[in-house]
Amino acid sequence: MTRSIRTLIPILKAQFQGPHDIAIVDAVSIDSRSLQNGPHTLFFALRGPNHDGHNFLETVYAQGVTNFVVHSIPESLVGKANFLIVPDTLVALQQLATAYRSEFSFPIIGVTGSNGKTIVKEWLNFLLSPDYHIIRSPKSYNSQVGVPLSVLGINEKHNLGIFEAGISTVGEMVHLQKIIQPTLGILTNIGSAHDEGFQSAGEKIKEKLTLFSAVELLILNKNRTIEAFLPPSIRTFTWSSDDKKADVFVMANEHADFTELRITYQKQCFKVVIPFSDFASIENAMHCLMVLLYLRYDEAVIQERMAQLYPVEMRLKVKNGQHQTRIIDDSYSSDFQSLKIALDFLESQQQYKKKTLILSDIFQSGLDNDALYAQVSLLVVSNHINRVIAIGPTISAYKRKFPNCLAFPSTQAFLEVIDSVVFEQETILIKGARHFHFEDIVTVLEEKTHETVLEINLNAISHNLNFYKAKLQSNTKLMVMVKAFSYGNGGYEIAKLLAHHKVDYLGVAFADEGVALKQAGIQLPIMVLNPESTSYPSLMQHALEPEIYSLKGLNAFVKLAEQKKLKRFPIHIKLDTGMHRLGFMEQDIPALIARLQQTQAVEVKSILSHLAASDDMKFVDFTLAQLTLFDALSTQMMEALEIQPIRHILNTSGISNFGQAQYDMVRLGIGLYGISNDEDEQKLLEQVATLKSVISQIRVIEPGESVGYSRRFMAERPTCVATVPIGYADGISRHWGNGKGYVTVKNKKAPILGSICMDMLMVDVTDIDCKEGHEVIVFGKDPSVMHMAKVLDTIPYEIMTSISQRVKRIFYRE
Ligand SMILES: *Cc1c(COP(=O)(O)O)cnc(C)c1O
Repeated sequence: MTRSIRTLIPILKAQFQGPHDIAIVDAVSIDSRSLQNGPHTLFFALRGPNHDGHNFLETVYAQGVTNFVVHSIPESLVGKANFLIVPDTLVALQQLATAYRSEFSFPIIGVTGSNGKTIVKEWLNFLLSPDYHIIRSPKSYNSQVGVPLSVLGINEKHNLGIFEAGISTVGEMVHLQKIIQPTLGILTNIGSAHDEGFQSAGEKIKEKLTLFSAVELLILNKNRTIEAFLPPSIRTFTWSSDDKKADVFVMANEHADFTELRITYQKQCFKVVIPFSDFASIENAMHCLMVLLYLRYDEAVIQERMAQLYPVEMRLKVKNGQHQTRIIDDSYSSDFQSLKIALDFLESQQQYKKKTLILSDIFQSGLDNDALYAQVSLLVVSNHINRVIAIGPTISAYKRKFPNCLAFPSTQAFLEVIDSVVFEQETILIKGARHFHFEDIVTVLEEKTHETVLEINLNAISHNLNFYKAKLQSNTKLMVMVKAFSYGNGGYEIAKLLAHHKVDYLGVAFADEGVALKQAGIQLPIMVLNPESTSYPSLMQHALEPEIYSLKGLNAFVKLAEQKKLKRFPIHIKLDTGMHRLGFMEQDIPALIARLQQTQAVEVKSILSHLAASDDMKFVDFTLAQLTLFDALSTQMMEALEIQPIRHILNTSGISNFGQAQYDMVRLGIGLYGISNDEDEQKLLEQVATLKSVISQIRVIEPGESVGYSRRFMAERPTCVATVPIGYADGISRHWGNGKGYVTVKNKKAPILGSICMDMLMVDVTDIDCKEGHEVIVFGKDPSVMHMAKVLDTIPYEIMTSISQRVKRIFYRE
């Protein structure tokens, strides 16, 4: 997309302000952190319920961007950059995409439904790519923002589009329809996901069908309920496994790991084998097969291609590699759009300065190779990639375009020499088209540990952060508590994310936690809640700011600071207003003031206190008394010392329940990790952590036989017992065994049998169709940490922070 700003004014119905309306833009961005933002980027400042792109305009301008679509212009940028002013920046983004889409007339497949959209889209891309130049939604970009961004990726060389559309409430689909303008529709299915946004199933069906209001043909599983809502003008092409009136009839013959589909269509009868046997995969495969029939592919081609369908992995996974490396595993796709997304992700994640990109040939860009690899080379340079390992015959030919490039004709050729290539203290992005099998590279480079992992959803953390930010007044600062390894979720990665989100402070419990963060390159100021006097030298060396809670501590700290000739070293004064844990009491204040008046070595950066019962409105009077005392004591200090420190007292439930006491800063903890003490608020947060393991072994035992130590479980029926390699040494309380707790296997509850062992536990899978190697959810969506806490008579904090460090953490974005 290359346009002058001037031509965009009427399309966006914008008002123009700035020096150059003839400026040219050729890319669109909504992400202030992207290193791909440059002089020809048009930046849309989007406003969400919890996030406002306008807050980042100065940062983006500093990156060299000079063209913006905004609701209002920050004063500092008036006259310096070009602004298209619109009432609603999201609407403007959608208008731009709609106008742009209208310039192309090739067929576009629009996919919606409750489940399977992304898989159907990826599979169709795989099935059709030998014959078309396809543009498709990257990852699962299917929202009000994702769809316009996807559509803006179209270029002149494409001749088929596949876009998915996802909605969560009424009135959204009409926008997506206008942007995608699909000519062929696929309705995957209508399930119960996202039901909150709709009054009834009928309303949801009608809303989804809006995507198809102008298609030439709609493909769907024949279904009377849905047909009742279909306008007669829409021509359908249906399949079914029970209704013979469908256009295509299928009989599915399921085996252990493949399914034979017997297809009857018009007068033809033929068999197609797919390498899956679960119901959802059969349904997704049928939708794809319908498209192939519609496009008149012949039997032999359909059979050959469908046999190669593969599991779709949409997530970018972050893993620990050997020799202090971080691996970003995106080993299943290599189109140009998703390369851009992966590079942005790399930038947000990199722990090490050095960055290596392992990249395969890129397919279906729509561009010829010279143009394509010239663009890839630009991306690599703007993202400061230090080394490229290029794999594949085509990309190898462009070796000279990449920095420190090693080129190999095939993955096999690289694997043969991989031991002689040094990977050390760097972040490695591994990105390849599926048939290059880059998962083999990941396996070699990955750090080897056992199969239990704690998966952390970084998008959910961002969501929760923004949720609480939205509760703050515009000038309230935010400290995020990342103590105890970010409540068990992983220290560095989360701190890095928080730095990107520009929080003001981090809080840790002990000095060494802070040192680790600083050494990993975190530059945010860090307050240490509980500094021991032995750690004072280390605090000073790493610019970590201590919480000072006693005169003894203050004297020791000041003495050392004066010895080191420090001036105005920031400290934080903790007042005890009722928690009775740490802090100066009311009677200590005069002495505290006197001591502070005698030294220049330290500066009171902030004054804080901590609420004992902010989560419990039973104690509202107590909390209000804490707030009053805090106000009085902090005011007394400020007046006597003539200082204006940051004042802060609220934790997560304080933010929710005592918003009037935000002062200058709040301290967010548990809420960031998706847990609230309030049931209603809980529903608005996203779940962050999922603890997963696998089934090591399955056996069947007879009635009267027992399981585990002390024979605490006795079988009363033939029982299928699965062993899972996670135990109390990993942080699963023994109280969770013996009939109280369960894990989830294949979305079903599997009760824990007998006592939990040190490194293993056994569960009942008699009624679950599962195999050795299958995934086990220990906690996450179900059982939730909240539920476990309730059953175990504790609080979610304890469960989360108990997960042992030997459990590998994996961070991902949706
Ligand atoms: C842990 C902690 C917090 C955060 O508490 P949450 O309930 O997790 O929000 C805030 N302030 C202090 C002093 C803490 O120790």
